[in-house]
Amino acid sequence: MVHHTDAELPLPPMKWDAWGDPALAKPLPDDIKGLLSAALGVSASDTAGPTAEEVLLRPSALSPDDLAAITAIVGDGHLSTADADRLPRSGGKSTPDLLRRKSREPQDAPDAVVLPGSEEEIAALLALCAERRIAVVPFGGGTSVVGGVQPDRGGFAAVLCLDLRRFDRLHELDELSGEAVLGAGLTGPQAEELLAERGWELGHYPQSFRYATIGGFAATRSSGQDSAGYGRFDEMVRGLRVVTPAGLLDLGRAPASAAGPDLRELFLGSEGAFGVITAVRLRVHPLPTSKAYEAWSFPDFATGAAALRAVEQQGTGPTVIRLSDEAETAVNLAMTDKIGGTQVTGGCLAVTVFEGTPEQTAARHEATRAVLLAAGGTSLGAEPAKAWEHGRFNAPYLRDSLLAAGALCETLETATEWAELDRLKAAVTEALQTSLKQTGTDSLVMCHISHVYPTGASLYFTVVAAQQGDPLTQWAGVKRAAGEAIMANAGTITHHHAVGTDHLPWLGQEIGELGVRILRAVKDTLDPAGILNPGKLVP
Ligand SMILES: Cc1cc2nc3c(=O)[nH]c(=O)nc-3n(C[C@H](O)[C@H](O)[C@H](O)COP(=O)(O)OP(=O)(O)OC[C@H]3O[C@@H](n4cnc5c(N)ncnc54)[C@H](O)[C@@H]3O)c2cc1C
Repeated sequence: MVHHTDAELPLPPMKWDAWGDPALAKPLPDDIKGLLSAALGVSASDTAGPTAEEVLLRPSALSPDDLAAITAIVGDGHLSTADADRLPRSGGKSTPDLLRRKSREPQDAPDAVVLPGSEEEIAALLALCAERRIAVVPFGGGTSVVGGVQPDRGGFAAVLCLDLRRFDRLHELDELSGEAVLGAGLTGPQAEELLAERGWELGHYPQSFRYATIGGFAATRSSGQDSAGYGRFDEMVRGLRVVTPAGLLDLGRAPASAAGPDLRELFLGSEGAFGVITAVRLRVHPLPTSKAYEAWSFPDFATGAAALRAVEQQGTGPTVIRLSDEAETAVNLAMTDKIGGTQVTGGCLAVTVFEGTPEQTAARHEATRAVLLAAGGTSLGAEPAKAWEHGRFNAPYLRDSLLAAGALCETLETATEWAELDRLKAAVTEALQTSLKQTGTDSLVMCHISHVYPTGASLYFTVVAAQQGDPLTQWAGVKRAAGEAIMANAGTITHHHAVGTDHLPWLGQEIGELGVRILRAVKDTLDPAGILNPGKLVP
């Protein structure tokens, strides 16, 4: 049998050492660099990382016999040990991931990349890997920010990256029930395009939308920016097909069921550790025919948060509603001196978007604006909200430029009840600032409410500081301090980024020792050899 393992696979994922499309890179203007240097002491002395050709990857540990056995399952052209394929799948897209790529030491990478084309092939691959003791990392868009796609061998001889990109079909659209079955490997834009051709929409727009996949959204319990209107991804899931080493599961029957605990929940947030999701049945809605925008200013974060709470608890129906704190607002204002023609100084900016039929949009807009006005908001008109939507997928490019300029820039997220929100926000901010100060740098800590619920909200923090010493060690200490503050102040260790390796130290605290035993029992039942994504999710 011929197998072209050195040949490159036909479909490369995104750039290996930065976010997204190199053509959209955003170099930092010199005056911003000057500002960073003056305010935070950013040295701008970042050393250039290696080029893709210069990176030293650990060589593939798979034997010719292993490669022949894998090729016999997936066929020629669907397996590669070429560096050009292994490198872009050697980790996710957190700041530590990107910093690691700058190393000139030998870097970790999967021993091979495989592109199965059917559930039968996945089942055969899992059986082969269990028998030959090869770890398997399911890989969607590779946008994990918690170490979820690290090529960890976990004590096995080798690790295979199982890329789902050939699961790229709209299998079914049930217009009567408003449900679509989508292949796990479809990216956000691919899925929306297939649905839009038929007049439907999923409405899941995380900031990683352009690259992340349907399977990845399910496996991480992702939450998109339109979550106020359409819900989190897990709330959209009606059914799942999962290939596990122990067999195939097809879960989710009828719109609701009392047939015992809902087993779909075991796979929402399963992070590739329990099985490989191949298709997801999702609630979809007709494409909206109208849209309205309005931005708001609040005198302070507490007033703005109370306004968002009132909107959510009264259920007035915005599609998007989010609130920046004073620090994040100040940075936004520094970049645009006038907001929607209005001179705004200080306070906190909020963005609202409404969708539906023209009647629904108007009714939702009017009801929401009445609540926001009564809660102390000042309207800034539609423009700033439109501008936010226009640029919403571009912020990650800014992080690349900040890192290249010698700044440390990372985000983290949590959620809690409304009653605890202020305490949690203050504690995490304090932990971030204090721990960064201990590394010798001032910091800019910004926060926004990104998702709201009747009973609480998520907090999304962005931190900018100067890199000091080894930035990986620097950030590890800061992340530890933030995690401890979250746990001590009624937060969840993650609202939508998932557990991966980075949040694993806190999972036991969050779900308790018995909870950990339940996860281990599920893992042992579905993946007795433990080959699936070792070191992630299960403590
Ligand atoms: C710049 C940036 C912005 C982001 N913004 C958001 C945001 O707004 N909201 C949000 O929720 N997240 C966000 N994320 C995090 C990330 O995009 C999400 O976790 C996303 O759901 C991951 O999807 P993916 O397809 O890239 O999965 P991957 O990164 O490939 O994998 C993530 C995890 O899921 C597992 N997995 C992937 N596919 C499958 C499958 N088919 N079967 C079983 N397991 C699988 C992997 O093994 C891994 O553990 C952001 C990340 C970045 C880098």
